Amino acid sequence: PTAAATPLPVLGRDVTVPLVTGGEVAYAALDYAASAPALQRVWDDVAAYAPYYGSVHRGAGYLSQLSTDLFENSRRTVAEFLGCRDGDQVVFTRSTTDSLNLLAGALPAGCRVFVFETEHHASLLPWRDADVTCLDAPRTPAQAVETLERALAAREPYGPALVCVTGASNVTGELWPVRELAAAAHAHGARIVLDAAQLAPHHPVSVTDLDADWVAFSGHKLYAPFGAGVLAGRADWLREAEPYLAGGGASRSVSRRADGGVDVQWHDSAARHEAGSPNAIGAYAIASACKALTEAGFDTLVAREEYLIGKVREGLAEVPEVRVLSLFGDDAPRVGVLSFVVDGWNSSHFAAALSAEYGIGVRDGLFCAHPLVRTLLGSDPETQGECGAPQAAPGEKSLNAIRVSFGAGTPDEHVERFVDAVK
Ligand code: PMP
Repeated sequence: PTAAATPLPVLGRDVTVPLVTGGEVAYAALDYAASAPALQRVWDDVAAYAPYYGSVHRGAGYLSQLSTDLFENSRRTVAEFLGCRDGDQVVFTRSTTDSLNLLAGALPAGCRVFVFETEHHASLLPWRDADVTCLDAPRTPAQAVETLERALAAREPYGPALVCVTGASNVTGELWPVRELAAAAHAHGARIVLDAAQLAPHHPVSVTDLDADWVAFSGHKLYAPFGAGVLAGRADWLREAEPYLAGGGASRSVSRRADGGVDVQWHDSAARHEAGSPNAIGAYAIASACKALTEAGFDTLVAREEYLIGKVREGLAEVPEVRVLSLFGDDAPRVGVLSFVVDGWNSSHFAAALSAEYGIGVRDGLFCAHPLVRTLLGSDPETQGECGAPQAAPGEKSLNAIRVSFGAGTPDEHVERFVDAVK
């Protein structure tokens, strides 16, 4: 990897923030894993579309027709970005959380769900009505596959089953062996949904190449704001399920019965799960981001990110009090997401100091992945450790961690400032 590749232009580069030490500094957004800044290109595309904005699927007027076209074209762009197969559906949702809850509501009766305890709560919690098997945190990618295979085999025979797994951890940034996990799931007759919230902004995600049945991601982590997300994949379970929301747009025909009740025929297409006026700007922004990332080229983006990860890793390695958190070992491949604790420091205070004294925005806490972070910290599950938690005294175990994350828009100076500040 070389430093030659330049970051993509993003919003927020000109934002300055006050420092407690006096003066102002350009804000260093190093919290991409929570929400990435919008690409300038996405912003420009949205601004160009905004005056023409109209209702989608709702009118004969020119602007309504235009918005409908842009919305449906956005769906096609996303399908292409995700390498969808013929017959797959792309449903526009509000977020990854929304996408996975939608899928949870579409599980066939008696469906079993297998999920690692290491998942983000968005992938861990939506399956409450199913028969859930929660798997132990693996310590190598190979162990993840073995653990899943063993769990699937132990519970056979069964009818429908679903494995839900992250593509890249929002805590450690580590890449999960998605292709191998998909093969294991399919070998046992189960399906797999990939939580690509952290993977899709950094690596190409193709449902065909990975042989994933569904994939979910959020626009606001993929350099496109505006409260939209995606669930894409197999149509059958979605088509057979009750609509996620009941309302206009999802229904093909509604009639009043003679006995006073109401009969409904729902759409079979993605519209079945998109009741209400859709978020056309959100979908358009996602499609714009998909195009921008494809045009920039993931090879280039990955090489640049690895260069930045190397800088952060080298810098942190020079600080003996820093412990980087990892499940799969220090050298495991990861995206630009890295969590750590600093011996003798309260993680929340540390993050607050990075902000107040250096203008650097990072995240602290348990990152909506409580079981994983507690496993990594070796802390007691009974101990509370969210943001602002009392810190263990020097030498004691930390109760929460600090996370730095970056991506396509990050200039060298931001990670350099971060490393200097930690030192
Ligand atoms: N999965 C992962 C791996 C995530 O990092 C996040 C966001 N932190 C989510 C799911 C949920 O995304 P959203 O808040 O956009 O629904």
